[in-house]
Amino acid sequence: MSLNISRVYEAAGHAEASAETVEGLDAWRGMNPQQQPTYTDPAELAEVLERLRSVPPLIFAGEADQLKDRIAAASRGDAFVLAGGDCAESFADATADKIRRRVQTVLQMAAVLTYGASVPVVKIGRMAGQFAKPRSSDIETRDGVTLPSYRGDIVNDHEFTAEARRHDPHRLLYAYQVSSSTLNLIRAFTTGGFADLRLVHEWNRGFLASNPNYHRYEQLAREIDRALKFMDACGADFDAIRSVEFFSAHEALLLEYERALTRIDSRTGDPYDVSGHFLWIGERTRQLDSAHVDFLSRVKNPIGVKLGPTATAAEALALADRLDPEGEPGRLTFITRMGAGVIRERLPVLLAEIGDRLPQVTWVCDPMHGNTITSNTGYKTRRFEDVMGEVAGFFDAHHDAGTIPGGLHIELTGDDVTEILGGASEIDEEGLRRRYETLVDPRLNHDQSLEMAFQVAEHLAE
Ligand code: PEP
Ligand code: MN
Repeated sequence: MSLNISRVYEAAGHAEASAETVEGLDAWRGMNPQQQPTYTDPAELAEVLERLRSVPPLIFAGEADQLKDRIAAASRGDAFVLAGGDCAESFADATADKIRRRVQTVLQMAAVLTYGASVPVVKIGRMAGQFAKPRSSDIETRDGVTLPSYRGDIVNDHEFTAEARRHDPHRLLYAYQVSSSTLNLIRAFTTGGFADLRLVHEWNRGFLASNPNYHRYEQLAREIDRALKFMDACGADFDAIRSVEFFSAHEALLLEYERALTRIDSRTGDPYDVSGHFLWIGERTRQLDSAHVDFLSRVKNPIGVKLGPTATAAEALALADRLDPEGEPGRLTFITRMGAGVIRERLPVLLAEIGDRLPQVTWVCDPMHGNTITSNTGYKTRRFEDVMGEVAGFFDAHHDAGTIPGGLHIELTGDDVTEILGGASEIDEEGLRRRYETLVDPRLNHDQSLEMAFQVAEHLAE
């Protein structure tokens, strides 16, 4: 792919790079950041970063603060966070239809949860910036050929050729552009009338009526419709349901990109990473002395940290001390991803040791990343029953500890892909072949996402 975005910017006469900074925002540079691309031409990178420092923000600091308030409500049990989207967004899939189906899926899940459990849902997309992937190996070998691993479209291309796998700094700019157009469409969908709760039936349109959960959703939509008609007859004001809040989130992995998109908030003088509303630190880069922890400790967005099966209470407490020293509600979310086999053993230990000491932290369950397996047919997959088993373990552990299960963080798509085994439509190992499209991790398809929402609504209503 040859993109010369730089030239486009030059033609447009880009603004001078902002010299704004605050102390410490660049400290991460001296901390040996892990999982970063290796670019061959420093001048090319410098030119791209200069452009990124002058582009308009994707989000506003005030919106990030608003999300912080919403997440704080979830930490108290007054709301529930639903974060969902691709493992890795791709440039090619940033089409209107695919973006709409993902937004529709999240809206439908939120409707199921809100109606089923009478709880406001904080809607977040792993969207408009989820382009960088940490990898366990720098290289990939196929049929005796070894090339650099695919690290997400923001770094290189998935195609298995030397040219495609080269780390290309121009992709940073393209990722910004694609994030911008994606977020623009999300904002249009969610504030322009499409997300009006009175269109609750419409959101089911375009999905396969043969899928078992389609009909279950239709039934629920009819009930919501009836309730709305009743409210209408009572003279209710529907302004509040005309649009919805929808926030963007991604793993803050490429620190040059995140740094270049950090701006000083004119209201407060504080730095915000304006590449997305919510940013998280992955399981592979969450070491206490890591560059990623340092950088995110200095921006004011609401942030998350993944906690895998080896995370200890001492580590989690130390991370909270670094990332949320003031104990600000909504600032820090722990996203646990233990695996169905160990969550019932590990999460209770963490909650017992730290639940009371960090009352401001929001606990969210990622039931995907601890449950990845390889099928006998060679696909990287997950079992729907394991995913739901982890969700059940999450709710049970919080129930027993007297702490609050604050939300879900999942990999999903609005498309009828076949990447995860099981679910009501019973995808089996052979079935995976039919439509396996993900570039990195397997995602719940539309039907499996709805099925999850129905089951989670039951957990929440308990
Ligand atoms: C991810 O969320 O796609 C991911 C890589 O997760 P983790 O850091 O938990 O492995
Ligand atoms: Mn993933």
